[in-house]
Amino acid sequence: MLYSINNMLFRDDDIYMTESPTRGSHLYNFEKFKECHELIASHGDIHILGIVAGEIENYPELTKYIKEHQKEMMFAVHGWMHYDYSLWKADKIYKSMMRAKNKITEVFGEVPQWYFPPWNRRNDEVMKAALEAKLRVSDNYVTPDQYLMGQRGELMLFHYWSENIIPEIKKYYELSNLHSNE
Ligand SMILES: [Zn+2]
Repeated sequence: MLYSINNMLFRDDDIYMTESPTRGSHLYNFEKFKECHELIASHGDIHILGIVAGEIENYPELTKYIKEHQKEMMFAVHGWMHYDYSLWKADKIYKSMMRAKNKITEVFGEVPQWYFPPWNRRNDEVMKAALEAKLRVSDNYVTPDQYLMGQRGELMLFHYWSENIIPEIKKYYELSNLHSNE
C-alpha cells in the first residue's frame, strides 16, 4: 500500500445519477465507478462520494459495493436530485438537503459531512441552508487538469463518469510520486 502524498481528498460528484440533467445523456456506469474507486483506494486516498440521494434505490449493486468499501470513502450530499438550489429559498433548500442527508445516513449508517453544490452553484441562501444542515462547503478545490498545471487545493473535483478521468488520475499519481522522490 502506498501512502497519500498530498493529503488530497477526491471529490467525486454525481454518484448514483442516471443521466445528465443538462444534456440528458446517460451517466451512471457501475464498472467505471469501481475502476475509479480502486485506483484511488490503491493509493491510500479517501474517495468522497457526492451522492444524489433520490436515486440510491435505483442501483442496489452500487449500494452493496459502497458498503463493502466504505472504509475508503466518505459521504457528501449532492442534492436530493441534481437541483440548482441557488434558485431556491433557504428553508426549502434546508428541507431537501436534510432529506438527502438523512437518506444517506439511513442507508450507510454514516452521517455525511459535506455539501457539494450541483454545478458548484451557491449563494447566501445555499450557504445558510448548508450551515443549518451542518454540512461543510469548500471552495478550495482543483480539477485534475488544474492540478497537472500546478494548482493545489484541499479537494480534487472530478466526475468518475467523465471520459478521460482514469488517465488523468493516473497522471496525478505519477506526478505526485515524482515530487515525493525529489
Ligand atoms: Zn453534479
